[in-house]
Amino acid sequence: MNFQAPPPQAAVSERAARLASVPSFQRVDSFIRRYLNGGQDQRTVCDFTFGNPHQMPPDRYVTTLRDALVPRDDQWFAYKTNVGTAQEAAAQSLERLLDVPFRTEDIFLTTGGFAAIALALKTVADPGDEVIYSLPPWFLYEPLILEAGLVPVKVKVHTATFDLDLAAIDAAITERTRVVIVNSPNNPTGRIYPPELLIRLAGLLETASARIGRRIYLISDEAYNRIVFDGARFHSPAEYYPYTLLAYSYGKTHLSPGQRVGYLALPPSMPRREEMAPAISGLQVAMGWVYPNALLQHALPELEKFSIDVGQLERRRDRLVDALGSMGYRMLPPEGTFYLFVSTPGPDDDAFTESLARRGVFVFPGTLFETPGFFRISLTANEDMIERSLPTFEAAIKESRKGT
Ligand code: PMP
Repeated sequence: MNFQAPPPQAAVSERAARLASVPSFQRVDSFIRRYLNGGQDQRTVCDFTFGNPHQMPPDRYVTTLRDALVPRDDQWFAYKTNVGTAQEAAAQSLERLLDVPFRTEDIFLTTGGFAAIALALKTVADPGDEVIYSLPPWFLYEPLILEAGLVPVKVKVHTATFDLDLAAIDAAITERTRVVIVNSPNNPTGRIYPPELLIRLAGLLETASARIGRRIYLISDEAYNRIVFDGARFHSPAEYYPYTLLAYSYGKTHLSPGQRVGYLALPPSMPRREEMAPAISGLQVAMGWVYPNALLQHALPELEKFSIDVGQLERRRDRLVDALGSMGYRMLPPEGTFYLFVSTPGPDDDAFTESLARRGVFVFPGTLFETPGFFRISLTANEDMIERSLPTFEAAIKESRKGT
């Protein structure tokens, strides 16, 4: 027998290879490997990178989970799609937050915000469709968009205010546009978009949809909608634009991002939502059963009542804004989220953040958010880390001044 050797083949799919070769994703991936899953002694470094906890979880969170672990019936750990009590708790809580009567059956529970966004994209967009989002963005939009076979289209926010640049969004709309992603409160800028801006955005999307003869959907990424400072009230694009799919994650409100639970919600104003609901449920199964595990769903009605101490984050914000401001750093104080987005003293944010990292102070460079000249600090670092980091921040700005 004369066997022909098969042609050399790649070990991975073209899709996986394409994803892995996207420069911004390579960057994210290298930071995931560098800063997640240990390797650093968290008692000696000052870790301001990912929005991860650096304090013990509150007892109430733990006892709620422990309680939900005790089975009440033989189906307790059976396959779960959407557990009704969890959907109901989520819908009621959203109604309290936004004053919009969300229906229980329009809450689709997911394994966190990641899956909610992926699900929203695949619900309304087909391969080749364009998805517009604003820079600086959460750095994982691009891989989620690419994995769904969609085309990322990036515009910049106004750098002076960090507000959405509506003219830039309008100019980026083409016949292929299907989705605009809006993230408020915003990671990394901490900006909360005011109602007037969201109303103008809704008008723009309505007009643009008519112009291109195709409905543009808005995905509202509201992972931080409970993390707002100074008693501010959060407003969702879902209040103003009916074609909004709302993605939420409990990972921020509970500061427990390893516990994967969140949801995609359709507002009651969503046209043809009875067509969308079965499509969403089908996708959830086909995407790999992206429902939260049974334990988290049983615990959700109790967990819904729980939030980390937002006042503590606000005090950390104030401490850092004051201390860094008096050293000469420039920043807009965040209105919500976990983050401070600060200008670097010189243009090279990579060199600047590396110089901090050599002294054990870890922050993310603005280039990770496709916005050079900034760095991001996560307020989930604990008070001890904040105090220990201040001399390093001070030395770094002095050095960079000497260098110029
Ligand atoms: N959106 C934004 C803006 C985020 O910052 C994050 C988490 N960093 C997510 C979505 C995803 O949240 P989760 O990991 O809880 O799914």
